[in-house]
Amino acid sequence: MLNSISQRLQGKVALITGGASGIGAATARLFAKHGAKVLVADISRSETSVADDHPAISYVHCDVSKESDVREAVDAAVSMHGKLDVMFSNAGVVGRNNLKMDIAALDRDDLERVFAVNVYGAFYAAKHAARVMIPRKQGGAILFTASYVTGALGESGHPYAASKHATVGLMKNLTVELGQHGIRVNALSPYGIPTPLSMGATGVTDPKLIEAGVTAKVGLGGAVLEANDVAEAALYLASEESKFISGLNIMVDGGQHLKSA
Ligand code: NAD
Repeated sequence: MLNSISQRLQGKVALITGGASGIGAATARLFAKHGAKVLVADISRSETSVADDHPAISYVHCDVSKESDVREAVDAAVSMHGKLDVMFSNAGVVGRNNLKMDIAALDRDDLERVFAVNVYGAFYAAKHAARVMIPRKQGGAILFTASYVTGALGESGHPYAASKHATVGLMKNLTVELGQHGIRVNALSPYGIPTPLSMGATGVTDPKLIEAGVTAKVGLGGAVLEANDVAEAALYLASEESKFISGLNIMVDGGQHLKSA
């Protein structure tokens, strides 16, 4: 009994895009702790390589904006571990000047870069996960990292906000198609967590300042939002505990989006 509680992903194989850092790395560690074999697919190995942290975590170079890279990463997971149970499409980038809304200053290259990673990357992840999950007839779980900006408008630049809304739209439409194959599809929408992505977007280099700002704004009894909080939600959505949950965008934001509504 204790084993089933402590090893919630025993025997599962998970692929995590953008898993070399931040939310993805925290999730890779938590999934491995719960018995999963994890393949991190990222453009960077990062200084503290998550793949060196745990024998069940391995790394493959993958630029999610290139369909061939995503196809190869999925094939690598299957050839290493025989199957794919969980696809966590988490890699993301922010637009330039992401704190500012300024449609008149829209830069096409910037828009394309944000959509290439956040939206096209999510499509490729879903496509290639479904390609191997459907014929196996054992179901599966596909997760996306969206963002708090899907619940609170005016909180980021337009390219990033639109890309994350597109991700949630894709998730919901996929839920209808893939449900008939027993594949559940869900999303996670975190508020601010100090990671290279958020520090780059805000220009705040001290993680404690981001933490303090979020803690003060949310005011959830002083609770601090950490990458691991998103990882715990991902663990729930990836595990059998959520076997009847599909089409959900979990706001990991302490209820903050409701205050902004
Ligand atoms: P992070 O910078 O720690 O990690 C992002 C990872 O994505 C990095 O390892 C990076 O190398 C990888 N990546 C970027 N482009 C890639 C590409 N083309 N192909 C493969 N990998 C690529 O940032 P994070 O905060 O952990 O971000 C993870 C996700 O969380 C993103 O989708 C982001 O939009 C979302 N998010 C973050 C926050 C936050 O405050 N940190 C809030 C809401 C949503």
